Amino acid sequence: MIFDLDKITRENVRKMTPYSSARDEFKEVDTAHIFLDANESPFENNLNRYPDSYQNALKKILSQKRAVPIANILCGNGSDEILDLLFRAFCQPQKDNIILFPPTYGMYGVLASLNEVTIKNVLLDEHFDISVSSIISNIDVNTKIIFICSPNNPTGNLISVEKIHTLLKTFHGLVVIDEAYIDFVAVESWSQKLNDYPNLVVTQTFSKAYGLAALRLGICFANKAIINILNRIKPPYNVNAITQKKAIETLQNTAKIKAQIQDILTERDRLKKILKNISFIKKIYPSDANFLLVKVDDADKRYKQLIKNRVVVRNRNSQPLCENTLRITVGTRVENEKLIEVLQEM
Ligand SMILES: *Cc1c(COP(=O)(O)O)cnc(C)c1O
Repeated sequence: MIFDLDKITRENVRKMTPYSSARDEFKEVDTAHIFLDANESPFENNLNRYPDSYQNALKKILSQKRAVPIANILCGNGSDEILDLLFRAFCQPQKDNIILFPPTYGMYGVLASLNEVTIKNVLLDEHFDISVSSIISNIDVNTKIIFICSPNNPTGNLISVEKIHTLLKTFHGLVVIDEAYIDFVAVESWSQKLNDYPNLVVTQTFSKAYGLAALRLGICFANKAIINILNRIKPPYNVNAITQKKAIETLQNTAKIKAQIQDILTERDRLKKILKNISFIKKIYPSDANFLLVKVDDADKRYKQLIKNRVVVRNRNSQPLCENTLRITVGTRVENEKLIEVLQEM
């Protein structure tokens, strides 16, 4: 594989001078200086100073916990911001294209449209896995990014490791692996393969298993050169101080999170067994995530019935290969009991 990062980076991004913040120009924040350089308020309230624009303390603990060097980490205002940065750094509007595997997470397509980047859709196969030969036949000189969501949303399954290896080896652009649901399954993160593949980008989020969706924190792991480019274009203070602090505290004690993940997995398996006996549920797809995709007799009808009973699920009926499916997030024991009761009465 010939991977040339310079070649796939947008010319304007390569040439631009990044914004230089007050803290970029004077970094010794721990010393007893008087800071009159950023037009902040001088009155101390724990929030009057701009946050660390490179999130050094957060990255230090992330680096330990995720076994990835600090230089290979970028933090974003949710992983959605990281996806946005990838488009803006590497996809030339009106010229480049990306490859998606529907049914999958909707933001990749939204960002492609926003950036006037052509989407090449290659449907997942009948096992909701990717098909390498049809991907390769869709790649052209302007294909910049292939987005793989694993475990995939909304289908719930992991994508075949061997097939991803093949893609990483054969594709000359970036392979982005969205691991939003990785904490719910006992497999190695692709972030452990950064040394093997200069074109690998992995994203994770604090919004799902870590229970911090409101904070907006996403993590990107990639080759140093890719991280440097994203750092050049990211808004200087993209991750706020409260988010950085709360994320550090959460990473310092993950026992509670681990117990919660275990609870969700137990509930998911219990829910699966019970839903099998609901007459209008035709199929429950295997899940490596915190949700179940189920096929019903009539998704629009069942979705509305559930809402009438004050239970909101996601209707995926309009998604390719997802006809008459509902995506049900695993809730607490009490919530799941309510869901079951409503389903049984429908
Ligand atoms: C929920 C979800 C995200 C969102 O991540 P944020 O960090 O909250 O922006 C990203 N990717 C997938 C596949 C998701 O399901």
